[in-house]
Amino acid sequence: MTEGANRTSPDYVRLSLAAAITLSLRSGLFYRGARLHCLNLLLTYEGGCRARCAYCGLSAGNGGGPGSFIRVEWPVFSVDEVLSRVRSSSHGLERICISMVMHPQALSHTLELTRRLNRDPGLPVSILVNPSTIREGDLEALREAGADMATVAVDTATEALFTRYRGREAGGPHRWDRYWRTLEEAAIVFGRDRFGCHLIAGLGESEKEMIDTIQRVRSLGGRSHMFAFYPEPGSNLAEAEACPPSRFRRMQLARFLIDYGLAGSGGMEYDEQDRLVCFGLEASALDDLVESGRPFLTSGCPGATHECACNRPFGDGPPDDIRSYPFQLEAGDIELVKKQLAIYNELPPVLKEPGSESFSGG
Ligand code: SF4
Repeated sequence: MTEGANRTSPDYVRLSLAAAITLSLRSGLFYRGARLHCLNLLLTYEGGCRARCAYCGLSAGNGGGPGSFIRVEWPVFSVDEVLSRVRSSSHGLERICISMVMHPQALSHTLELTRRLNRDPGLPVSILVNPSTIREGDLEALREAGADMATVAVDTATEALFTRYRGREAGGPHRWDRYWRTLEEAAIVFGRDRFGCHLIAGLGESEKEMIDTIQRVRSLGGRSHMFAFYPEPGSNLAEAEACPPSRFRRMQLARFLIDYGLAGSGGMEYDEQDRLVCFGLEASALDDLVESGRPFLTSGCPGATHECACNRPFGDGPPDDIRSYPFQLEAGDIELVKKQLAIYNELPPVLKEPGSESFSGG
């Protein structure tokens, strides 16, 4: 299917390539049989997204599209065609997500699509809200239209990084305070565990800064959907270095502990470069958790039978260098993760016991 000038939302949406394959709108097979459980839709407009986020392939700063987003192609399809496929195929989908982009009509089109999706096929709908295009009261309208969850893509762990990559310094419209106000509103409108925050690890933050931000989200009642920075072809950061796996594994583990109430950031310890050296949990419990593989799965909105329905296969790393696992880890994956956790550049193995002075090996 080719792209045309008038193929824009609300009648058309972009579909992640994984979603297009799941609905047999594109041919292809998933590496190791990964299966998608959330249909990710992205609003689409001529000229693409009007924001200028430095790491995003849809940014106006890169010509506005077609561009890739989370490292995969997002082909355009009519909503009618997508819904007819959702109705007729056996797909295992447990959620649908609408990602807003920066466009004056994004809110009204998101409301329209939410109402439509809520009627048919009736799967729970998440909205990846763009705070720069909504006003007070709009989250309530989204919830009344049938949205089940709302998530805000703050993306960066610190205000300085936000301003550099998304805000004034990037020539973009987004503002840190506005994003956090929207998260606070989402906490009130959608309630505990019904809202989330997207975060990208590896944009220049320290581990402590990321973990403090994850804790801030959890203290509001939400969960962090954290993925690794992996350079987006065509973006302003196309040549930047990907988030090292060892660093990401440690932040994944800490995120899981915080988001599921197993430890708090206050009990975690860092070295002089703010790198995690203690997770605030005794080693045997931590080892069990690592062996389960759960902390290293993709984090995202839940489904009827999955802790995370939105598993975005290979959205933050290629199949031969997986960051977020879209499927249950096998023994070989766990061994690799353990090595990645233990080898931290020049640091000795991690996993220090809380309160102890020595490292106990990872
Ligand atoms: S985690 Fe997935 S389903 Fe939830 S808002 Fe983000 S992209 Fe959408």
